[in-house]
Amino acid sequence: MLTVDEALARLLAGLGETDVERVPLSEALGRVPIDAPLISAHDVPPFPNSAMDGYAVRAADGGMIRPVIGESRAGGSPARAVEAGTAVRIMTGAPLPDGADTVVPIEHAQERDGVVTVAAPPRPGTHVRSAGHDVRRGDAVELPRGPLTPSVIGLLAAMGNADVEVRRRPRVAILSTGDELRPPGASLGHGQIFDANGPALAAAVIEAGGDPRLMDPATDDPAVIGERIRAGLEDADLLIASGGVSVGEHDHVRGVIERLGTLDFWRIAVQPGKPLAFGRVFERAVIGLPGNPVSALVTFELFVRPMLRAMLGLAGDGRLRVRARVGETLSKDAPRRAYLRVRVERGADGYRAVSAGGQSSSQLLPLAWANALLVVPEGLSATEPGASYEAILLGAVA
Ligand code: AMP
Ligand code: MG
Repeated sequence: MLTVDEALARLLAGLGETDVERVPLSEALGRVPIDAPLISAHDVPPFPNSAMDGYAVRAADGGMIRPVIGESRAGGSPARAVEAGTAVRIMTGAPLPDGADTVVPIEHAQERDGVVTVAAPPRPGTHVRSAGHDVRRGDAVELPRGPLTPSVIGLLAAMGNADVEVRRRPRVAILSTGDELRPPGASLGHGQIFDANGPALAAAVIEAGGDPRLMDPATDDPAVIGERIRAGLEDADLLIASGGVSVGEHDHVRGVIERLGTLDFWRIAVQPGKPLAFGRVFERAVIGLPGNPVSALVTFELFVRPMLRAMLGLAGDGRLRVRARVGETLSKDAPRRAYLRVRVERGADGYRAVSAGGQSSSQLLPLAWANALLVVPEGLSATEPGASYEAILLGAVA
């Protein structure tokens, strides 16, 4: 059996990054920018301006009374220059008039009959934002490594960029397999169940930064599975199948991958999700995940999500981790590393993890309620009450 880390290292080996495309800022949220600094074509802000509503003055004039000779508004026409002993009324964001070096906020000044009195002699440069005080023209600006956030998009816009170079989303074909599967919304006949993995994995692909192509489920027929894999790979960087990877009489995914390309079949020391098929068909990666919905989603999280991120140029799984204390005995299979479905909460003395419900790999409800996977190491047959374990956060913590 491979360890989780060994299996992941093999999956990531030789994985290339997707090509680069340019997207408008309106479509940039969550996209991953290329790993290269951006040279700013502009100073941000482009000109010295006022941080307050008030009066633009020369600090050297001290506390004297000044005639107000004009006004500078954000976006307005240029104001008269501030000559010695004068002031210009100024609004937040408005250009600092020539001659002025300081802004006296409206709260510290009093204007009456065209003259302004200041409460105290101003300190030079106060409440003035110099040109380029956020970003200087020509600066090489590093963007944080990760999906673009609203604030990075705002920064790009402030620098004058209408679009941004990002990695193309990896295209992922998704194929559920099983004679028993029916699309959600259909009626169920004898022995049939709804396809949960297709929609769940498509959503997980989007969450990881990929572009899913959800296919119609395949029956447990090698010819059908082969045809679907061939069709799916026509327009995808990789294909994820679920179901039909174990050793049952109707498990054909492995055999089909072997016939169309090359196959590695691994037993991974992981709970849930022991069997995992990994192959190459038409030079593309094909991954056969176990059919049980919890196994499919947890193995996606552990193995496929880091692959998609690597194709976007990002390291790791992008999840936060905390150590959380458990109060219960949750049993597991001793030789395997377990990823238990838990709810993590912040208590007075650190994070606590509580089982989110049944830990069977067919129970989706507890996974739906879990906000973390609790990592219980190989060698233990249960959690020890009072002990702390690593928790991989999948969602927000209350
Ligand atoms: P398998 O890996 O094909 O042996 O399937 C293991 C279990 O997962 C069986 O109970 C299947 O019915 C179930 N299963 C397989 N694929 C899906 C799916 N797409 N949605 C929901 N359950 C599934
Ligand atoms: Mg099956």
